[in-house]
Amino acid sequence: MLVYIYHYYMPHYDLHSHSTHSDGTLTPTELVHLARAAGVDVLALTDHDSTDGIPEAQAAARDVGLQLVAGVEVSVSWGTQTVHVVGLNVDTGESTLQAGLRGQCEFRRQRAEEIARRLEKHGVADAYQGARAQARGAIVGRTHFARFLVEQGHAKNMRQVFKKFLVQGRPGYVPGAWADLAQAVAWIRAAGGQAVIAHPARYKLGSTRLHKLLAEFKACGGAGLEVVSGSHSRDDFFRFAHLTNRFELLASAGSDYHGPEQPWIDLGRLPPLPDGCQPIWRDWSPARPSLRSVAR
Ligand code: AMP
Ligand code: MN
Ligand code: MN
Ligand code: MN
Repeated sequence: MLVYIYHYYMPHYDLHSHSTHSDGTLTPTELVHLARAAGVDVLALTDHDSTDGIPEAQAAARDVGLQLVAGVEVSVSWGTQTVHVVGLNVDTGESTLQAGLRGQCEFRRQRAEEIARRLEKHGVADAYQGARAQARGAIVGRTHFARFLVEQGHAKNMRQVFKKFLVQGRPGYVPGAWADLAQAVAWIRAAGGQAVIAHPARYKLGSTRLHKLLAEFKACGGAGLEVVSGSHSRDDFFRFAHLTNRFELLASAGSDYHGPEQPWIDLGRLPPLPDGCQPIWRDWSPARPSLRSVAR
């Protein structure tokens, strides 16, 4: 009975999602409508290195009575690794953050040209144009190259195309030259936001390196860790919940939804945070839970 009440009256949070302003396939409006239909009360739009989708998402959220958290997912170079840091509740008009994101997008543009040059040498013609067409005006990322390559028949699906062309050691890979960890956290904090390490299980770090990352992140003002993520297993939930306590971080939850083409990731169908961790929304103004429009 208590579980039943919890499910129906606790607000549902999904604090990591993408739109057509980065590599998602739904517009901010479509994303917000889907979130509402899925019973999400509080949604963060966290496009890669861009907040351009926030105004449209805010407007759609007002229309359907959903709380929209202005967010961004900043790419970070940490040693030879790329780590993603989500910023939540950022002031999108703040100049330090926007200057930082402009730099990231400039690197994305140069990287896209370089990826295309490398693919060209590998016998793939016109990849820059192809990826740009996929991005439809958004800043080009690897996902857009991946969609182009699949469309051209160079690989069967997205998983394979990354493995074959776009990851370290493969022909279309260009090493990241992103912000460093302290910079990314500083931009997010300058914009009044909270910085959260996204999908920590994805980095495949051993415990020594993982602890080093979390200690550095905490020391430079990082606030939270994604405990529940669309790319985490149940074991990961508990492992990272434990680490939030050890490193005095708050716990976040986000699907990392990119669109219906990845049916294994559902918007807003996240399990609750494990007991004992402190939610990142602990100090936010209370969300208004609404009756679920779908059975969970
Ligand atoms: P970028 O930030 O442009 O380097 O692209 C990173 C994005 O590529 C991630 O946010 C995912 O959306 C996507 N991605 C990375 N690896 C894979 C993979 N193995 N399969 C499908 N998508 C992936
Ligand atoms: Mn992505
Ligand atoms: Mn990510
Ligand atoms: Mn993401």
